[in-house]
Amino acid sequence: MCSKLIIVPTPIGNLEDITLRALKVLQEADLILAEDTRTSSILLKKFGITTHMASYHMHNEHRQVVTVLEKIRQGKLVALISDAGTPGISDPGFLLARECLEEGIPVECLPGPTALIPALINSGFPADRFCFEGFLPVKKGRRSRLEFLAAETRTVILYESPFRLLKTLEQLSQYMGPDRPACVCRELTKIHQETRRGTLSELCQWYGQNTPKGEIVIVLKGRGKDHETEQ
Ligand code: SAM
Repeated sequence: MCSKLIIVPTPIGNLEDITLRALKVLQEADLILAEDTRTSSILLKKFGITTHMASYHMHNEHRQVVTVLEKIRQGKLVALISDAGTPGISDPGFLLARECLEEGIPVECLPGPTALIPALINSGFPADRFCFEGFLPVKKGRRSRLEFLAAETRTVILYESPFRLLKTLEQLSQYMGPDRPACVCRELTKIHQETRRGTLSELCQWYGQNTPKGEIVIVLKGRGKDHETEQ
């Protein structure tokens, strides 16, 4: 009997980034909830893990929560994984963790891969205080978020798709000023990993001429005391 939900981070590109403890938990769990069972089967197969999987994603999580809570109450150990990184970080996970805690069910998150931390450290910007914003709203609320973030003095971390990168950099430049130092981390932990640092204006120019591919994190230096000169 081990009634518990364990949230298990999985690699963001390099399968060797899985931790020994993550492998042990995934092997010993009674059930693995996976965002996409086909994607996760590649990881499980590589490490010889045969635990039964069920799908748990943004389109079925409300329905699944009820079933999962019941299984845990019956004494099952349930592990939650997403396609990549830490569940709950711009991925499903928050709802299940909250519902478990409200029901008095123990929840534990293992430490492990997530894209925001390596991007933050690679940027070279202050990492003592930072704010993670995930994806900017695509339409409604985007402008007010950009206005709010322009005044942020801590380092700001954003997730972005390659298709929207240039537009987002241009808007960031518009709101934060073209001289704001920024960093784009692409394909972290993968063969074609790239970290590009520069002002927003330099990054706009680069990505205007070089169409990006793959997964992207944008890191922005917080607004400095001399921000008037950044506008
Ligand atoms: N749960 C994940 C985490 O802990 O980082 C995030 C999942 S979110 C759906 C996917 C976004 O994370 C991508 O669009 C990209 O912004 C970022 N991301 C994930 N893997 C990445 C990688 N290898 N390199 C750069 N960014 C990555």
